Amino acid sequence: MIGIDLGTTNTAIAVWRDGGPQLIPNSLGQVLTPSAVGIDDDGQLLVGMTARERQVTHPHLTATAFKRYMGTNRVTRLGEREFLPEELSALVLARVKADAEHYLKAPVNSAIITVPAYFNDKQRKATRRAGELAGLTVDRLINEPTAAALAYGIHRRQDETRYLVFDLGGGTFDVSILEIFEGVIEVRASTGDSYLGGEDFNEVLIQDMLRQFGASWGFTSREKDPLLYELLRDQAERARRELSMSPEAKMTVTWKDEHFEHAVTADHFESLCQKILTRLRDPVVRALRDSNVDLDQLKEVVLVGGATRMPIVRRAVTRMFGRFPATDLNPDEAVALGAAIQAGLKARDAALKEVVLTDVCPYSLGVDTGERRPDGTFRTDVFAPIIERNTVIPASREKHFATIQDGQQKIVFKIYQGESRIASENIYLGTIEMPVPPRRAREVGVTCRFTYDINGLLEVDVEVSNTKERQQLVIFDRENAEPGLDLEKRRKELAALKVHPRDRDANRAALARAARCFEHFLGEKREEVRRQISTFEAALDTQDSVTADHARAHLLTALDALEGQSFL
Ligand code: AMP
Repeated sequence: MIGIDLGTTNTAIAVWRDGGPQLIPNSLGQVLTPSAVGIDDDGQLLVGMTARERQVTHPHLTATAFKRYMGTNRVTRLGEREFLPEELSALVLARVKADAEHYLKAPVNSAIITVPAYFNDKQRKATRRAGELAGLTVDRLINEPTAAALAYGIHRRQDETRYLVFDLGGGTFDVSILEIFEGVIEVRASTGDSYLGGEDFNEVLIQDMLRQFGASWGFTSREKDPLLYELLRDQAERARRELSMSPEAKMTVTWKDEHFEHAVTADHFESLCQKILTRLRDPVVRALRDSNVDLDQLKEVVLVGGATRMPIVRRAVTRMFGRFPATDLNPDEAVALGAAIQAGLKARDAALKEVVLTDVCPYSLGVDTGERRPDGTFRTDVFAPIIERNTVIPASREKHFATIQDGQQKIVFKIYQGESRIASENIYLGTIEMPVPPRRAREVGVTCRFTYDINGLLEVDVEVSNTKERQQLVIFDRENAEPGLDLEKRRKELAALKVHPRDRDANRAALARAARCFEHFLGEKREEVRRQISTFEAALDTQDSVTADHARAHLLTALDALEGQSFL
């Protein structure tokens, strides 16, 4: 069994082996595989780095950041075919599964996949389906911060303490407070912002460039000028990473054969990011409040997610908590390592002391009810939470209700997940109908019990107090009720797609990068790229793998010299 961190930007995979978690490299020898899917000119699907490299030159044929749409029916068109977010994720999962099988020299059938703690029921189910579509049995979904805590070895520390996991990735921000006692890890609170991450910092730099050059480029919007937008995004990403190491970075854009240059200093970048940096505070405050934990009760603040490498984020965290955060692991690898530790725990590896993993339910669960107002009028569609947000699970809670009309023959509970007071604004999970003996209004009482387990399964029990009649009612759940056949059919369809073979990935990724550079540079540098491509293509034509490997190394060194190292 393997552990997979299915990220917005990158996906990482790890295995529990020889008494420890190990990251598994992909066919390019990298432990991060971009969560990107694209299609090339002859209709083959490209997954990972090659797709990411082509995003700049072929934005219409490339899909990234689809994790943001998990659980929705948003369709992405790539060439002839349309994909749901879970299908795009399945293609990434299938690729890392193949990488793992190649590395481990054994079939991989089941996995633990991590999800943001903030994911709701729909998003979790979509993630599970993505795994199944990729041919994996999804043994369990665990929250990313919980996985990070496992990776930091927090579970091995003896004393009873509390930690805060601060996870800022490419597209999501998660804050979790974990409590550890006697080998038990308990998530006391998890909050976050599902639309905050590294991409927002890129956007700040893009806007900065547009303020200066937007008019001369005639830029209108991301949708209308995708090619230019991707060029800007690529430059923003490079500059942002550069600013993690040096006090100044340059962004260069070649558009309609004209060359534009824009320099940013770290200080200027920091001042541009003030708004985003303040948005980091609110989820932290909410997590502390929900868990009743004071700042000084926190043993440590753990940084997770690639975007926490940014010095401005680290400074903001240090200011917020009045102390330096823990950074002894690579922030973009911790989650996958933790998932592998969980896989090891599942397999009851002797090297791991048994830890009990508990979790919290990230959203409130409840039913719709009616409410009599002080003036005697009645309003319906009022949300009555039964299990509240951040309750430690497994949990079982009940609430009492009564009939509202004379002669009422049944009580209908609609079940929702969410925080809005208006029930129907929350996420609808199902409906239960319970027959009741016809009496006068409020004479029949009904107890509704919710039991929520660690895999996100919700059971609802209803008991009529007058008759003591009990019924365990099964929630009609549209997604679970989806016929297995359908999933099987979709899996077959995905498997039948022509996916570019992983063993030729390295050459494809190098060519895609070279093509992007050719479009980017002008003059001497462009000529240099053209020469390099033609030498490399000649080497590929020999069909001799040693010659090709040698030429690829040569090409990549030349590209590194021209544009700096490539990144994930
Ligand atoms: P993750 O979702 O954890 O893979 O994080 C991806 C995000 O981390 C992306 O927005 C990256 O731009 C960002 N990131 C990774 N490395 C760096 C770095 N050295 N400096 C700034 N941001 C980085």
